[in-house]
Amino acid sequence: MPGHIFGRSTRGSLPIAAAGEGCYILDAEGRRYLDGSGGAAVSCLGHSNEAVRAALHDQLDRLAFAHTGFFTSEPAERLADRLAAAAPEGIERVYLVSGGSEAVEAALKLARQYFMEVGQPGRHRVIARRQSYHGNTLGALAAGGNEWRRAQFAPLLVETSHVSPCYEYRGRAEDESLEAYGLRVADELDAEIRRLGPETVMAFVAEPVVGATAGAVPAVPGYLKRIREICDRHGVLLILDEVMCGMGRTGHLFACAEDGVAPDMITIAKGLGAGYQPIGALLVQGRIYDAIAAGSGFFQHGHTYMGHAMAAAAANAVLDEIEGRDLLSAVRRQGARLEALLHERLGQHPHVGDIRGRGLFRGIELVADRETKEPFDPARKLHARIKAEAFAGGLICYPMGGTLDGVRGDHILLAPPFIISDTELEELVDKLSGALDRALA
Ligand code: PMP
Repeated sequence: MPGHIFGRSTRGSLPIAAAGEGCYILDAEGRRYLDGSGGAAVSCLGHSNEAVRAALHDQLDRLAFAHTGFFTSEPAERLADRLAAAAPEGIERVYLVSGGSEAVEAALKLARQYFMEVGQPGRHRVIARRQSYHGNTLGALAAGGNEWRRAQFAPLLVETSHVSPCYEYRGRAEDESLEAYGLRVADELDAEIRRLGPETVMAFVAEPVVGATAGAVPAVPGYLKRIREICDRHGVLLILDEVMCGMGRTGHLFACAEDGVAPDMITIAKGLGAGYQPIGALLVQGRIYDAIAAGSGFFQHGHTYMGHAMAAAAANAVLDEIEGRDLLSAVRRQGARLEALLHERLGQHPHVGDIRGRGLFRGIELVADRETKEPFDPARKLHARIKAEAFAGGLICYPMGGTLDGVRGDHILLAPPFIISDTELEELVDKLSGALDRALA
């Protein structure tokens, strides 16, 4: 009998998740699945983490909910203080929401309100990158550059145009240095702002390391710095979407810190709640907040569950775990190990075109031909087959169709919990390479 949920997880079509234990999820029949992607880069502490459970019980015993129209809470205040202290230079304010799309939506609205209040009401356009994903609510969807997702909801609410992503594997010419490539591709933003007229552009949105849509594609060195310069030159706000790559996934709490760039706003979510509570946050430069505070004095936005005490308690416990167990070092160490294992086991594979990423955020791009980089025929849906084979073999990974330069191609995203052990990493790569072979057979 099918259940009444409509959406992805429907009774009869999927196993029932019954329990979690470290890097594993157990279904109702007792089968174990190694969580090689933390779902979608969510479960950074693994499942059933004791410290987070204790923090949640403790908060639940005190108080679950008090509306932010009347109260603030200790966990929410503490979380905002900690995020602001850890964030790149100038980030001083934190807006707590319930997920990634809400964080992006808030960023777009805050940018718009900011320009209205500082007397530049013509700035309403957004520029993002082709093939990007920034969430599924209407504003976030409008920012994203995935033509297929956009098409069925057009016309969209925010006018957005798209420039090339920084995608070395396919974008860089053979005789071009990494640096020259980064600058060339960043300069497309400059050209696009000039084409639209800087007085009409409010923000550029991008992921520092592209996650789901492309399989852990980091920007090349120098690219984001150039993007920062271009935004400054034209008075455009830089919004970096770290919903997937942030919160330690790349080995740094904020991925953009590694690029030496301080954006105007950062969105985070997934790893912030680590799956224990829905939560997201928008981190904002003090001067943006100050301009609004000096103007209308009030960001005209809000959600019932923003700053929820349970969600904030979970996020504080996640940060405690990351700090107390030095998990950022673990991410860098195990990330390097995973990278080495992937190269060792799959580096010579005739259909593995690229292995990339940072920390425990790794991507593998699959090609029909390594020499020409020709992708597989999309009708073959290789990514879907790999997902099914891996799952049947007890591995959760995140394969997707669509490389950054268009809608064709297949890649696999890996984002295991930060606590993954050496043996579990080997199991992951073993199971993945088996699934790949079965899917290609
Ligand atoms: N931005 C990025 C980069 C994401 O990967 C996602 C989720 N995959 C979102 C935004 C939207 O987050 P959520 O699903 O929590 O709304």
